[in-house]
Amino acid sequence: MITINGPRPVKDQKTGNLTYTDRAKSGLIGVVIHEIGHNWFPMIVNSDERQWTWMDEGLNTFLQFQAEKLWDKDYPARRGEPKDIAEYMLSTNQMPLMTQSDSVLQFGANGYGKPATALTILRETVLGRELFDRAFREYAERWRFKHPTPYDFFRTMEESSGVDLDWFWRGWFYSTDHVDIALDKVVRATLEPADATAAAAARKRERDTEPKSLTAQRNAGQQTVVERDPATRDFYDAVDPLDATAADKRKAAEAYADLTAEEKAARQVTDNFYRFSFANRGGLVMPVILKMDFADGSSETARIPAEVWRYNQKNVTWQFVTAKTLVRAEVDPLWETADADRSNNIYAGQVDPRTLKIDTPEEGKNRMKDSDMKVLPDSLRTYDVPPK
Ligand SMILES: [Zn+2]
Repeated sequence: MITINGPRPVKDQKTGNLTYTDRAKSGLIGVVIHEIGHNWFPMIVNSDERQWTWMDEGLNTFLQFQAEKLWDKDYPARRGEPKDIAEYMLSTNQMPLMTQSDSVLQFGANGYGKPATALTILRETVLGRELFDRAFREYAERWRFKHPTPYDFFRTMEESSGVDLDWFWRGWFYSTDHVDIALDKVVRATLEPADATAAAAARKRERDTEPKSLTAQRNAGQQTVVERDPATRDFYDAVDPLDATAADKRKAAEAYADLTAEEKAARQVTDNFYRFSFANRGGLVMPVILKMDFADGSSETARIPAEVWRYNQKNVTWQFVTAKTLVRAEVDPLWETADADRSNNIYAGQVDPRTLKIDTPEEGKNRMKDSDMKVLPDSLRTYDVPPK
């Protein structure tokens, strides 16, 4: 293959100088790397190219991408970077990678580009280099001079890494779904304070964020009957309905006094409970990489495993607890998952505030605890366990 692959330098008619374009240079280096790679896949690990193009061209293109970047960090690799495959994965005339080779449309993107990218993502984002390299090496060792099928590859990668990858094979190899995870909404919840007066103040603060209605705005300045005539005013005009009453305060204080030390500590938590709502628009289940920027200038990136989608593959809510204030959040900030629509990845808008109320779950009636018997009879202190 190498001997018949171009490109070659061109001779200048006037000067006789041999020159070549940068494209010819990278093309020739790339194709030499590629054909050398075929010594292993499929010549030594001998898969059936007429059945599954991706098993040799895809694996080999993945290795070609790795080798090109180790040859020169600025090598203009055509296939392997996740962002480069998004356009193909959005196209309508795709075939799943698991399609018999003669029936594949867009042979280059299907047989070479998509599987090479899938393996890059499996290595960098899903498994990490250590687990991936160990498993991929195991596949090459175990199946050299043999005839592996796709299932042998899938099983070896899972067995050796110890990671269940069924969702990954299904999405990338058996479907034509694409990756598009949207960050739809962010809710900020805080705990209602245990103290009744503080809880009332929090309720009032929440009310004060609501705009005045048009009626209220346009009536402003007009004296109402209740304002004009003291005879119409009573207790309810003198108090704010959100204020804690004396009974509220007493009850809250009693309830608090009843709590264990651990429960009391829990009621003092002032952290923010941020709830991120993600929507899987593309259909392909993937890990969610979420970068969160806080008001103090710091950032944190959470790498949420794909298993977050296990109960609902369309919508999921994920919670992050922090004392910091969130100002911005972005899904897949490093463009590592081939997310096809980045316009729905960034959230910089209004955070929806909520107050969480804590209810102590009702315990079954404990007549023993409630009784005023301070000393139990000896017969009730211990229970004889019958011998086996
Ligand atoms: Zn090839």
